[in-house]
Amino acid sequence: MQPEILRARLRPVASLAGAHVRIRGLGAIGVSAAEAAVRSGVACLSLVDPDPRDAGPGTTPALARGTRARRAARLVSDLDPRVRVDLDTSRRVDGEVVVAYVAVEPWTVHELLLGGPHVAVLVDEAGAAVIPVDPGRTPCLRCLDVARTERDPAWPTLAALHAATDPATDPLTATLAGAMAAASLAMLIARQPARAWRIEAGVPRRTRLSARPECGCGAA
Ligand SMILES: [Zn+2]
Repeated sequence: MQPEILRARLRPVASLAGAHVRIRGLGAIGVSAAEAAVRSGVACLSLVDPDPRDAGPGTTPALARGTRARRAARLVSDLDPRVRVDLDTSRRVDGEVVVAYVAVEPWTVHELLLGGPHVAVLVDEAGAAVIPVDPGRTPCLRCLDVARTERDPAWPTLAALHAATDPATDPLTATLAGAMAAASLAMLIARQPARAWRIEAGVPRRTRLSARPECGCGAA
């Protein structure tokens, strides 16, 4: 095949080249997302670890938070020393990845909707969901919570109870979920459609969310 014909058939590849990305949650999924973002050419990474659960005996949460953030920052520097790393939670970024157990807490959802493109990785006992959100254009995390509350009125209480649970899952699912979150964020930043996925035991399948008018995000 002629090179020009080959080129014509190739679609533009979304990447994170030159982007400033924030990752909230630095367990295995967040670290996998950070690694994928660095390999995709990200210029700056903000690393935030809101609720680490890997603290050993005698370790304070603040110390553990620093430990995981420092470990992730070292990994980023080893992969590409040109990437700027900070621990900023409020700086304006091009996009975010947030990792949580079953639901992102409401205040963070509010911040994410105001901030711009983001991808949530929601972990549960069986696996993880990767949910890309382009605020006002695609169903958001609040739309998802509206649907969950319709199915189970106790959902907001259950979600709040799980707020401090470590979003850990099996290693293959964690690695894949992090990489797919970074790839989905690249699609969103490139204004290309990004789909939601469900991953169990390292195997992804497509899933679908519905925009809800009661949410008020404007996607419905
Ligand atoms: Zn919504």
